[in-house]
Amino acid sequence: MDRNLDGKVQYQLRHKYYHTTAVVGDVLYCWGGNQEGLDKSHDSPTKRECTSVIDAFNLLSGAWSSQPTSGTPPLGIIGVSCTPISNNIYYFGGWCGHDGCFHNSLNCLDTCTLQWKELQPTGDNSVTKRAYGGMIAIGTGSGSEGEPQQLLVIGGQGTATQHHPQFKYDYGAAITNEQSIYNLFSGQWIVPFVSGQCFPPAEEFIIQKISYNKGIMHGGLVNDGSYCSTDSIYLFQLSHNTINWECLKPGSVPNDGLWPDARNRHASTIINGVSTSPTLVMIGGVDSDEQLVNECWLLETKQYSWIKVLMFIVCYCECELSMTGD
Ligand SMILES: [Zn+2]
Repeated sequence: MDRNLDGKVQYQLRHKYYHTTAVVGDVLYCWGGNQEGLDKSHDSPTKRECTSVIDAFNLLSGAWSSQPTSGTPPLGIIGVSCTPISNNIYYFGGWCGHDGCFHNSLNCLDTCTLQWKELQPTGDNSVTKRAYGGMIAIGTGSGSEGEPQQLLVIGGQGTATQHHPQFKYDYGAAITNEQSIYNLFSGQWIVPFVSGQCFPPAEEFIIQKISYNKGIMHGGLVNDGSYCSTDSIYLFQLSHNTINWECLKPGSVPNDGLWPDARNRHASTIINGVSTSPTLVMIGGVDSDEQLVNECWLLETKQYSWIKVLMFIVCYCECELSMTGD
């Protein structure tokens, strides 16, 4: 059990995976995921007990806390996608935890009130029920209108109820490159057109927004002839209802040759500097042999050159722990 310097016992985050994180203000919110003791039934009071709390990490104090929420949290708790806009965090899809029960619901958590609202229930509509994909807030045009009010959901694994001709559905729709846009003003899903070098069916990749209407995808498990981990970067831009894609592979951009090996289940964020282009930070994951990767890479999004960051891992031994009084 961790203790503060004043001796108070700190709340500690449980071990979990396939969870979500989003930063709003000075707080990182962590919700969902697979964890020990999780009730994986469709819906139950026990499951609601678990889904009705959210872990919050205060970036200023460095302390975790568990916060109660109210309203309607999603049932898809594993591999759900999330993204913040202003004080809200939006959650799409996810795997329920039992059988092939995937969701295509869209829920919103207001971080000021910690109240959940279901914007779209799970249903048989044009959007594939899925998990392990990605979601970002995105706009069209220059961005002079303020925060984008559209959510772009891409890729993932699940069950399709409707096949759109511009997308691929492999292994009985288990993996897809489907893309869906939800307009928060109209409350409607839009199925966009695609052009350029669209990514193949994929899951467990990273996705980040790099400008108002542009984003970047990296890595993941793809079906590109065979089911494997990839080292490719995909850039995309939304214009009206069309998403244009560009693929970057090792050797396709003039840089010093540094390029991270293929990986999936990694984590990422974007650093926005005042005088530099947005920089993708990519960390961890597993490689093509399912081995854990302990690497951190930076990718600036002007020339697309990679920098490998040296990481120093501090290991605490028994004697060091005993000196803290634990
Ligand atoms: Zn279910």
